[in-house]
Amino acid sequence: MTLQPPRSVRFACATDENDNLRGYLLAAAATTPDAPALVERAPDGGLRTWSYAALEDLVDGYVDTLDGLGLDVGERVVVQSHHCSSALAVLLACATLGLPFIPVAPDMPDERLALILDSARPALFLQHGDGTRDHLPGTVGTGRFGDDGLRVERAPHTRPRVRAGVTPTDPVYIIFTSGTTGRPKGVVMTHRGVVSFLRGVRRLGFVAPGDRVATTSPLQFDFSLVDTGMALGCGATLVPVPRDELAWPRRFLEFLSEAEVSQVHGVPSIWRPVLRTAADELAAMDTLRRVVYSGEDFPLPELRRLSELLPKAQIVNGYGATESMAASLTALPNPIPDTLQRPSIGWAHPGAEMTLIDEAGRPVTEPGVTGEIHLRSPALFSGYWNDPEATAAALVPDPFDPSSGQLVFRTGDLAYRGPEGELYFCGRADSQVQVRGNRVELGEIERRMQQHEGIASAVLALDRQAGPEPVLTAFLVRGDAAAGESVTAAAVRAFCAETLPAYMLPHHIHFVDDIPLTSNGKADRRALLARVSH
Ligand code: ADP
Repeated sequence: MTLQPPRSVRFACATDENDNLRGYLLAAAATTPDAPALVERAPDGGLRTWSYAALEDLVDGYVDTLDGLGLDVGERVVVQSHHCSSALAVLLACATLGLPFIPVAPDMPDERLALILDSARPALFLQHGDGTRDHLPGTVGTGRFGDDGLRVERAPHTRPRVRAGVTPTDPVYIIFTSGTTGRPKGVVMTHRGVVSFLRGVRRLGFVAPGDRVATTSPLQFDFSLVDTGMALGCGATLVPVPRDELAWPRRFLEFLSEAEVSQVHGVPSIWRPVLRTAADELAAMDTLRRVVYSGEDFPLPELRRLSELLPKAQIVNGYGATESMAASLTALPNPIPDTLQRPSIGWAHPGAEMTLIDEAGRPVTEPGVTGEIHLRSPALFSGYWNDPEATAAALVPDPFDPSSGQLVFRTGDLAYRGPEGELYFCGRADSQVQVRGNRVELGEIERRMQQHEGIASAVLALDRQAGPEPVLTAFLVRGDAAAGESVTAAAVRAFCAETLPAYMLPHHIHFVDDIPLTSNGKADRRALLARVSH
């Protein structure tokens, strides 16, 4: 027998804002249905606005089509799209039905997608109407979606339904991040986890109804879901920035003005070209009240420049990993004090806590001592898809009370506390390398190079292929300042030698015009090394 309880039973959770991502994000459809939920570039080149009620209608139209396919709770759906109204509606339709979604980028290489399909064995592959992905394996159903609805092209193979309805502990999505083994690693998040994260973050007050939140991260990067959740969960308006406009600093800023954006979320690298070529235009944007960055260190010289150009804006450092959406969001002082060495990652968001553990497994509480961040939170992922070993390495028994059965997330990130107990991120435990027997933290060297007035940004990569010992290879972008024109490798090395021991000096220094980025917009160390490999 195939379970098919009445719709009211199956959808009971889906519309509850405590229990389901759809219910949480569309709560405003009941209270302020006409409020703008999403503003986006329209096909005619203008802007168009979706009210909460209109967005909910779009979601429900997709739900009707998907529900007719007879998929069981837990069956996966790959969604390929840029961020837009219909992509968001598909994600929320999947959430309604308990079908975990796997967002992928339209430009994801075929081989990488093949690895994901092979691992996740989705029932359906849905792409935005303008998608060009074909030759998908016959095991997966296919379809397209857009303003005109959702069209199934090849029906999925279904399994007999064994589940009656979606629950808060069911997976809501799987995000595939780069795994250390070279195979993408699927981070599985539950409805309950994501909703409790978004609730905690809402209490920080960084978004209010009336705000317009620009999101710049690709859909497969969970940061785009953080932005979406922060905006819609507060009854505010989400503004996805089209990728082709983001790529051009002036067009990017013009889009922000046209859409009357009040805050911008994105990785630090979205600001680099703006600071270089459109600083005056940015300074003129006095409607920007907040910038939230996340995902990696913001090089301090660039961060200072951004805060100088936007003296009235609040800059917020979002720290965390896909495994918990994020861990903290910390407002930085503006202006940034001259004495600031690195931005704080503050405290975990309400409802969560970051603790530091030393190499012997003991808690670190005193200021200035480095430990590994262990996060306890209701928003922890439930595991890596089909990888119990990696899951057990990351979700570990609470080091303070191992008998309790509680699991905490061992982040692999190192930090120390400041005088008030606030945290400062200082690198990855796994980027801590031994160079000629000495412990070296790559981030510390990067930071020193960035302090040179002629350097705009610095990325250090560890070249393990170059010889028996790992080789420290620096990639530097010269700054615009007069000193930047003439800075040489010898000068940078001498500058580093003023504060760093000899074994921490980069072996090779390369000047580059730009820092290549991963598809998520973070510095791509592998691509940099490939440029100089012999
Ligand atoms: P996210 O999707 O949240 O960026 P990823 O899973 O791609 O997360 O990468 C997480 C890692 O990125 C963290 O473990 C940390 O090493 C680094 N990271 C994230 N945010 C910051 C930040 N604000 N400052 C420095 N490093 C960061």
